[in-house]
Amino acid sequence: MGMPHSVLVVDEDLEQARDLAGRLETMGFETFIACSDDDVHDLLSSGFDSVVLDLMMTREDGIQVIRHMGQERSDANLVIVGDADRRILSAAERLARARGLRVAGSLSKPIDFSVLGRMLERGVTRAGAGSRGINVQVAQTELLQCMADGCIDVTYQPKIDVRTLEFIAVEALVRLNHPTHGQLLPAAFLAMAEESGLISRLTRSVFLKALAQTSRWLESGLALQIAVNVSPLLLTDLDLPEAFADLADKHNVARDNIVLEITESWINEEPVSALDILTRLRVKGFNLSIDDFGTGYSTMLQLNEMPYSEMKLDQSFIRNATRDRETRAIVESSIELGHKLGLKVVAEGIEKQEDWDLISDLHCDEGQGFFIARPMLAEKIPPWLNHWNSCLGRG
Ligand code: C2E
Ligand code: MG
Ligand code: MG
Repeated sequence: MGMPHSVLVVDEDLEQARDLAGRLETMGFETFIACSDDDVHDLLSSGFDSVVLDLMMTREDGIQVIRHMGQERSDANLVIVGDADRRILSAAERLARARGLRVAGSLSKPIDFSVLGRMLERGVTRAGAGSRGINVQVAQTELLQCMADGCIDVTYQPKIDVRTLEFIAVEALVRLNHPTHGQLLPAAFLAMAEESGLISRLTRSVFLKALAQTSRWLESGLALQIAVNVSPLLLTDLDLPEAFADLADKHNVARDNIVLEITESWINEEPVSALDILTRLRVKGFNLSIDDFGTGYSTMLQLNEMPYSEMKLDQSFIRNATRDRETRAIVESSIELGHKLGLKVVAEGIEKQEDWDLISDLHCDEGQGFFIARPMLAEKIPPWLNHWNSCLGRG
């Protein structure tokens, strides 16, 4: 390794801070200590690799330091420690993330130094590897040009039956093949597309490509369902159900083989037209999924009023459910709620064996995530499926 990893220890109890810093020094970190409000303000701007923050400061509490770090746009890797209830530490973690900080995790006292060491290390590798491309934002003219040049790609991510492990569907996920930046994720252009109104053309173009591909798969004997994301902004276009039904029919894809995933995090200004459109889509035979379930403002209201057939639990719940009792309770109750309402329940963001075991124990219906397969180009699906089936002994 090159430069030693620098860590700022923020704790108003000087003795405790020295203690902690001393332990970190023996582990090979370079440490600095901030005990007073002034120290914190002066030191934060000097760019440490990591900050270990004691939440329970009395003069200026840790929450204020988090706010200050957010204002300073600190890119340090933050570890929160405290003599507190797990829920308070988790809330502080969430707050720090919401303020744009890079959070490695939180630890209750007494501190387990091997865990702290790993959190600090992880911060270093992530800073180096993860940031590429994240900040690229595509301009409206660029997106238009890309659409004209046919640079919109669709990748497909498998969905699996949790009980039988059978492959059932793929979700179409848009990618932009940018001339200089390479393949870009929706985070680089989706918000702009929604603000500029290009989202309608983009969604239709993804829907068309996905239908054409699905019809090729079906013709070749590969039975599967296709899930497509539909921006809630399209739910003001009263002709949408007819347009989508026509497209599906033209491509010979049965409507009940199509799942339209609607992001839940919307505050719709025209709930009546949304209800009109969603109801007609259901009447025409499409499946409707409430995507990112649990992250929106009107989750329960929507569940009650809109004719959904599927609930897709947001990946943030799945990610935390195995290490956080409260989140697990939310996942468990959501699955039960979904089933009571007669919905199919899908978990997304399954990254590890433990995630899979959990949703399987909780009787979730379908699962999707990197643990099963990453999104891939259409031609990679058949070989992946062969491999999957042979692992199941069904090759
Ligand atoms: P989504 O519909 O919730 O899609 C799931 C996202 O999670 C995808 O990100 C997928 O690549 C990612 N993902 C899947 N498995 C895992 C996992 O195990 N771990 C983690 N960390 N992530 C996982 P992606 O492709 O970047 O898409 C982000 C969002 O953009 C989508 O979230 C969807 O809301 C939107 N989107 C994607 N394609 C389209 C589209 O064609 N039209 C519209 N309107 N929105 C789209
Ligand atoms: Mg989706
Ligand atoms: Mg989602």
